[in-house]
Amino acid sequence: MIRGHLIRAVGAAIGIASGSALAWAGERPNILVILADDLGYADVGFQGSKEIPTPRLDRLSKAGIRCTDGYVSHPFCSPTRAGLMTGRYQQRFGHENNPAWLPQDTVAGLPLGETALPQALKKAGYATGMVGKWHLGAHPQFHPCARGFDEYFGLRGGGHDYFDLNMFKTDPVGAEKIEYKIPLHRNREPVEEAEYLTDAFGREAAAFVSRHSGDTWFLYLAFNAPHSPLQVPPKYLERVKGIASEKRRTYAAMICAMDDAIGRTLDAVSESGKEKDTLVFFFSDNGGPVAVTEADNSPLKGGKGQVYEGGIRVPFLVSWPAVLKPGEYSQPVSSLDVFATCAALAGAPAPDKPLDGANIIPFLSGERSGPPHGRLFWRTGGGATYAVREGNWKLACPKDGQPELYDLGTDIGEQKNVAQSQPEKVAAMLKAYAAWNSELIQPLFQSPKAGKKQGKKRR
Ligand code: CA
Repeated sequence: MIRGHLIRAVGAAIGIASGSALAWAGERPNILVILADDLGYADVGFQGSKEIPTPRLDRLSKAGIRCTDGYVSHPFCSPTRAGLMTGRYQQRFGHENNPAWLPQDTVAGLPLGETALPQALKKAGYATGMVGKWHLGAHPQFHPCARGFDEYFGLRGGGHDYFDLNMFKTDPVGAEKIEYKIPLHRNREPVEEAEYLTDAFGREAAAFVSRHSGDTWFLYLAFNAPHSPLQVPPKYLERVKGIASEKRRTYAAMICAMDDAIGRTLDAVSESGKEKDTLVFFFSDNGGPVAVTEADNSPLKGGKGQVYEGGIRVPFLVSWPAVLKPGEYSQPVSSLDVFATCAALAGAPAPDKPLDGANIIPFLSGERSGPPHGRLFWRTGGGATYAVREGNWKLACPKDGQPELYDLGTDIGEQKNVAQSQPEKVAAMLKAYAAWNSELIQPLFQSPKAGKKQGKKRR
C-alpha cells in the first residue's frame, strides 16, 4: 500500500513538472550528488583528457548523460554550494561571497531562512548524509547536521590540509581557528583521521551507502579535491608521471585519487543492488584555477572567479540507468536544477520560496524538448561582474565596463566579441539582467580579507 502510494506520488510529481506523465513509475531513486572542487573543464577522461586517467568517472559517463553545457551558479566555492543546497540563485539571499572561518559569526553562512535540500528530502523520508567539504558557515547553527543531514563526516571550511588532520589533539582551541587545520567532524564531534583525506571520503561515502542499503537515501559527497593545497600520496603520482610540470602532475594525481574514491562509492551502490535505481549527479563547483594548479579549462576562456565560460561551465554528468538512456545533452543545465529535480522525484513538499532550477529529468529523457531555461544569470561582487546566457548568446561583463557578446554556437572560446554588431541583442540581454538583478539583495558578508593572493587560494 505504502509503496503503491509512493509510486503514484512520484509519477505525479514528474507529471506536474513536465506537463505529461513520464513513462516510468518505479521506486523513488537513491540520490548521490558528487561535487569536485576547482576541477578543470578538460581534466577528466570523459571531457577528452588523455593525460589524467579517470576510469570510474568515464564509466559513469558512458552509463549516463554528459551535459555539454552544464553550469554552476557561481565561479567560486561557497556561493555555488549555497545555490546547490537551495535550488535558488544565492544572490537572492545575499550568499555571494565565501564566508570567513569565524565560528562566532552568525551571519556568514547559508541563511537559516532558506530550505536546504537535505531538509526537503528528509521530510520526504530519505536518509540523508554528507561526506566532505561544507563551506556554508563556521558557526554551529550552520553545521550540516543543523541543515538536514542525519549524518556528516568532513571538513567544514573552504579547504583543508590533506595529510595534517589531527591538530585538534594537540591544540583543540587553536586548531578551530585555522580553516585548513580545523578538526574533521563526524556528525558534530571532532575525529581523528589517519588516511589521506580524499581516500577517507571514499571510505566514508561507501560506508554510508552500505549502511543504508535498506533505506532510500540522499548522499552529498563533496570533495575538496583537487583544490589546493597540492598534496597527494606517491601511489597516485605514479599514474600521471608523464606530466612534466610538478604542479600540474600533483593536481592531476589528486583527480586520480578522487576518481578512486568515486569508484569505491559507486561499487558500494552496485553491491547494494541499487545501481539502476540511483540518480547520480557529478560536477565541479567552479572552473579550474589555472594559475594556482595549472588546471586546463580548454577550449573555454578564463577560469575560477570569472564569468567567462571557464569559470562557470563545468564537467557535468547525470546518471540514472532505470530511466535515462546514455548519451549527450546540449541544452544549458545548472547546478540549481539539482534541488528541483531531487525534490520532484522524492515527492518532497515544495519549499516556501520559489526555486530557480527545473526538474531536468523529462528533458534528459527526451520526453520534453526545448531548453529547461530561457536564460541563466550570474553575478559576483554585488554586480562587479555578471553574465547572461540565452540560447547560444552569452553576454559577459567581466569587470566594470562594457559588456561583451559572444555566440557560443560558433565561438565556445569567447574569442570574438560581437557586441558592436548586435546592439539590439546586447540591449535586450542587459534589460533581462537588470530585471533579474532587481530581485537580488546585496551580499550579506564579504569574502575573507587575507590579502589578495591568499584570498584567491582560499576560495
Ligand atoms: Ca571551488
